[in-house]
Amino acid sequence: MSQLHIALMPGDGIGPEVTDAAVRVLQALEAQSDDLVLRFETLSVGAGEYLSSGDPLPAAALERARACDAVLLGAMGLPDVRWPNGTEMAPQIDIREQLDLYQGIRPVRLYHEALTPLRDKRAGQIDLVIYRENTEGLFWERQASHDPRADYVENAMRISRRSSERIVRAAFAAARERRGKVTLVDKANVLPAMAFFREVFDGIAAEQPDVETDRVYVDAAALFLVRQPEQFDVIVTENMFGDILSDLAAGIVGGMGMAPSADIGAQYGVFQPAHGSAPDIAGRGVANPLATILSAALMLDWLGRDAEGSSIRGAVATALQDPDCRTPDLGGSVSCAEMAERVISLL
Ligand code: ATP
Repeated sequence: MSQLHIALMPGDGIGPEVTDAAVRVLQALEAQSDDLVLRFETLSVGAGEYLSSGDPLPAAALERARACDAVLLGAMGLPDVRWPNGTEMAPQIDIREQLDLYQGIRPVRLYHEALTPLRDKRAGQIDLVIYRENTEGLFWERQASHDPRADYVENAMRISRRSSERIVRAAFAAARERRGKVTLVDKANVLPAMAFFREVFDGIAAEQPDVETDRVYVDAAALFLVRQPEQFDVIVTENMFGDILSDLAAGIVGGMGMAPSADIGAQYGVFQPAHGSAPDIAGRGVANPLATILSAALMLDWLGRDAEGSSIRGAVATALQDPDCRTPDLGGSVSCAEMAERVISLL
């Protein structure tokens, strides 16, 4: 009997709705299983928490999260709730940094041909995963202040040997479990820091010649993702490039509502949809919960319960075979809660 203690951080906007849907799916799996026992603990983190306590990420909440086996997060931040310097608060990024969740894993899979804007793509034909370096890169100086009267503002891109090696090694390990190919996405032709990233990549590639490798500049990668997404298996890239390309990649498989993610370090794992809090649709029950439900599946994989993780992915794939089983973002009228029920009925 394995009891898993899951911290829930529903957060802001649509976060609570989609988290609730994913929890119901997890509870349905628990009810079917002889040996899966889940214990949930809800933690208040985000813009709403800032409005009530003055701190979007209370230290006590993070401590509780550290004590759990994994964290399932909804979405955080609201456009009107900002720091005095004008930036939006992003406790989900603070959590990545504080728990050293250096792997930003973004699986991109086409579950049904009707979900892609690309021509002639069948379900399963787009199946790649982005390994985004989560702790440095172009996000390195994200908390720097700036003088609005200055003539220029600089933000450095930091690429360290240690962080590059560990994300590239994680990408190679992932490729071994998949189709055996890693594509480095960089801008080594322009930026010395990116040339350094490529040198680190080349060193690890030389150690593991059985893994096929490719090197693509980020601008070309954006084109190839639209023209020939089948050529990608595992993509490894720096923080900001990964941020941008994962939204583009989500766009070719149905949009943000179809994009799960996992932020993983040596010790902790946080699982959340790749989308934000979508305040424009919050509270109306129309958010697509599948990105969060698929993130819960990644959480189960990471916790060693991959049979249950696969069961969720199978149920999502089967649910989407029905052309009427679509939330409004996918062109249908199924509610957030109804979508969760469809998935549960197919587990
Ligand atoms: P962030 O900067 O935190 O990534 P954002 O404001 O750029 O957030 P999102 O909140 O991810 O963007 O969403 C952009 C738009 O996409 C939303 O306004 C919403 O209309 C749509 N959207 C995002 N997630 C979902 C979802 N799960 N279901 C339906 N629509 C969604």
